Amino acid sequence: MSGAPSKILSHVNAILLAAVYFAAAAAALHLTQGASGIAAIWPASGIMLAGLLLLDKRAHFTLYASVFVASMAANLSIGSTLWLATAFSVANLVEASVAHHLIGRFSKPDKSIASPYNLTIGALTAVAAAIVSASVAALLSGLVSAEFIISWATTVFFGMATIAPPILFIAKDWSRLQPAEKAAILPHFVAIAALSSVAFWQSDVPLLWLPMAALGYSTYRLGLTGSALGLLTIAATGSFHSAAGFGVMNASETTITSTMLLQVYLLGLLLSTLPIASLLERHDANVLALDAARNLAEDRAIEARRLAETDALTGIANRGKVMGDLTKLLTEARKHGSPLTIMMIDVDHFKAINDSFGHAAGDKALMTIAAIGDQLAGERGCFGRIGGEEFLMVLPNKNAASTITIAERFQGTVHGYDWKGMGLDQITLSIGVAGRSMGQDEKSLLSAADQALYEAKSDGRNRTRQAA
Ligand code: GH3
Ligand code: MG
Ligand code: MG
Repeated sequence: MSGAPSKILSHVNAILLAAVYFAAAAAALHLTQGASGIAAIWPASGIMLAGLLLLDKRAHFTLYASVFVASMAANLSIGSTLWLATAFSVANLVEASVAHHLIGRFSKPDKSIASPYNLTIGALTAVAAAIVSASVAALLSGLVSAEFIISWATTVFFGMATIAPPILFIAKDWSRLQPAEKAAILPHFVAIAALSSVAFWQSDVPLLWLPMAALGYSTYRLGLTGSALGLLTIAATGSFHSAAGFGVMNASETTITSTMLLQVYLLGLLLSTLPIASLLERHDANVLALDAARNLAEDRAIEARRLAETDALTGIANRGKVMGDLTKLLTEARKHGSPLTIMMIDVDHFKAINDSFGHAAGDKALMTIAAIGDQLAGERGCFGRIGGEEFLMVLPNKNAASTITIAERFQGTVHGYDWKGMGLDQITLSIGVAGRSMGQDEKSLLSAADQALYEAKSDGRNRTRQAA
């Protein structure tokens, strides 16, 4: 159990993540590549950072290696030189490593991702990683200009700040989702994509509130996952339209500035959903805590009830329990007109056993007798200890004749038991049996059984008598 399967799984996940990285990077480069050969949006940086934060440490090397390959492939696919592709890929890995270490060092894992403290750390981290990344990319590629550094740093910053939080939200929230909510994801996704397309595709009607409203609704319906999914969908739709030169985000002339407009819009959306996300998370945590408290209280109530119904010495039902059962079963029997018999059992000369062998040996004998009686009653009825060395068995649906058979079996088993093996002398039982008659209550039934028991005693003990 050294966690080998999850290790394989996380290696597979790392490679899958690198494939997603490649798709995002290639799409960004093909759609929004500026004059300097860099994309105007870089969701890949958010994907990589989320991957490092989510994946098992042991899979990090696999993630770095496969993302390096993915980044090289994406850059080479747009015709970059090998050197430029390498320079940019190294910068991408450096930015991810810097961000991951800063978050590991400064964020508070016990607080929510959406807590103001962790958000501030996340934002500062993205700024630092973006600056380091831009410097590395500029130095290695030789493209050292203010324009290059600013445009590289902003794309990395926005990529991290807008893409990583939604991925982390979904990863955190996924296991909480009910099947019905999971089924609702696709329709929500399609609706948000459609509404965003309408908003981004044209600039005649100001419809940027539409994706916002859809995002609000999907947050309401699907919680954190809804908000995260909505953000990612709006980001993808917006990027596509902006890159294709359509609509409202394309009011300005250059790809860089129009994409910047989109990214600021996305960041605004993220910031406006974070308070709700944080609230939902707190709500979920409260619900979980309440659930746990309720389960504990229920368990304790069950245990308390079990203890209240159990005889401490023998572990069988106590007086209160077996008397309660008698009342219940008698009511049932009266309702259905069915038979019910009881037997009152008393250990013979038990005082003498205590006197000869000690109280502890007497206790052991009581436990043995209780276990024999309990097994005999089994599914047939109820059995409990009603006093010192006295027991009661209640047998619904049994007439007196079959109850006497059971009583005699009880007597025979106790009589034949190897008491000598326990260091005691032979022990016997006297039993009084009484069956219910019309209109009888438990009090008179018990006194009839008691009377029969008295007869068994006076007739010489170790015998069963039936109430007249
Ligand atoms: P009889 O055959 O007439 O029933 O005689 P008896 O000695 O069994 O009856 P009696 O009522 O005189 O004595 C019952 C004894 O049971 C007295 C008491 O010390 C003993 N006893 C009651 N509860 C316990 C217990 O929990 N443990 C032990 N070891 N003895 C107990
Ligand atoms: Mg007694
Ligand atoms: Mg007795």
